[in-house]
Amino acid sequence: QEDLFKNVISHAKEYGYIFGSSEIYDGLSAVYDYGQNGAELKKNIRDYWWKSMVQMNQNIVGLDAAILMHPKTWKASGHVDAFNDPLIDNKDSKKRYRADVLVEDYAEKLLQKAQKEIEKARKRFGDAFDEEQFVATNDRVKRYLGQRQEILSRLADSLTREDLKDVKALIEELEIADPETGSKNWTEVRQFNLMFGTKLGASAESSSDLYLRPETAQGIFVNFSNVQKTGRMKIPFGIAQTGKAFRNEIVARQFIFRMREFEQMEMQFFVRPGDEMKWYEHWKEQRIKWHYSLKLGKENYRFHDHEKLAHYANAAADIEFDFPFGFKELEGIHSRTDFDLKAHEEHSGRKLRFFDPELNENYVPYVIETSIGLDRMFLAVLSSSLIEETLEDGSSRTVLKLPAVLAPTKAAILPLVKKDRLPELAQKIIDELKWDFQVQYDEKDAIGRRYRRQDAAGTPLCITVDHDSLEDNTVTVRYRDSMEQKRVKIEELYTIIKEEVDF
Ligand code: ATP
Repeated sequence: QEDLFKNVISHAKEYGYIFGSSEIYDGLSAVYDYGQNGAELKKNIRDYWWKSMVQMNQNIVGLDAAILMHPKTWKASGHVDAFNDPLIDNKDSKKRYRADVLVEDYAEKLLQKAQKEIEKARKRFGDAFDEEQFVATNDRVKRYLGQRQEILSRLADSLTREDLKDVKALIEELEIADPETGSKNWTEVRQFNLMFGTKLGASAESSSDLYLRPETAQGIFVNFSNVQKTGRMKIPFGIAQTGKAFRNEIVARQFIFRMREFEQMEMQFFVRPGDEMKWYEHWKEQRIKWHYSLKLGKENYRFHDHEKLAHYANAAADIEFDFPFGFKELEGIHSRTDFDLKAHEEHSGRKLRFFDPELNENYVPYVIETSIGLDRMFLAVLSSSLIEETLEDGSSRTVLKLPAVLAPTKAAILPLVKKDRLPELAQKIIDELKWDFQVQYDEKDAIGRRYRRQDAAGTPLCITVDHDSLEDNTVTVRYRDSMEQKRVKIEELYTIIKEEVDF
């Protein structure tokens, strides 16, 4: 698994998908740049989401709100007061950690210990092994799991009460040490706000404090009435938006999974109060269907229903994905009640209501939100598509089996040799196809090597132009996944590519 993750990272760099930010200056931690192929893949994921949300649903419209917003927005949304991570410093090493992560890692170790015991027993008992019974009766396993449960619930409790002294007490009681130096000399736990601050205006006196938005959702809420009135939207309806968000994450690890600058794809669906559970279930189902439609493997997804809810929610679930480092949150579906619109009403003094002609009533709508990180989706697509395949003849090939609809390059056009007017014919084919598809010309190296290069870059189709092509207007089409080849007429190419890469 760890090797797979390393492969994904190095493959992403080698094939122009992802580079570290400002690498020539040794990079900036938890910030990344998307290369020539990455920019295409990212755009295609965004388009795939946008089409399925906005184009396919008559009652969902798009929005592109600014990253900078009036500072009161973040007071109203609760981000100024509550968007915090609990931090702790080690006095000896001067290293800074997220206190909750330290405790969670400790709990994770207890789980691993329990799993080790279970595996040992499985080996000992063989086929006769009954895991459920073993877990229920083995004292050691019961102790590990019980202690883990207790630690996690005490942690969750003190975090919801924001009682950080209890988190510190937990760290001391468990004798948790600095993972790097082993020192147990900790400071108090402090709240650290995750929003990036910046200044508007030039002079020190007249400038005002702003934040870079930590989520795109608030741009939708403050525009609720603008869109509803000018678009004559009737409830239920949705507003969708994609765009950058910024969080000053402390534990920045796991590549593009947790970044300081990232992109979100969010949709807020406004419904009648009382109808929210129906729509919450509806959007859970729609969103998992969207994921399944990409065929990354159903077994890679699972739902995680939240028991402890954020201050604005009355129901919440994550769609988790099996990343190379295990199942982790990819998307959130939240029933946000009328919390946001009401808070903005209070802070702005403006009405954010809907007159429902059927009920003959004015109300603040309830909201179901679907929120997915574009970069996390990118990582899900990339890591589940990278495959090392052993072929029939025993040789192996690296192939990036991206869903064709998302692939950066749809087809590579390859002249068999660099002479005899083959490059000219290949170029002519490109000039016809490029209006509809992202296609690429490649004439360097032997044809077999070019196929392998395109396999590794994720290109679903290769089109080879040879000497016969000059005579009869046919070319060879090679499919990335099956490696099958067939001879087709040049004028059929449009239909063949279209069929392969369609939405
Ligand atoms: P986590 O628990 O992983 O920090 P979160 O619960 O804070 O995530 P939300 O606030 O619900 O996340 O944001 C919605 C989505 O935005 C997440 O499901 C995730 O895909 C994405 N996201 C959030 N934070 C980051 C980040 N730092 N880097 C990349 N994507 C992120």
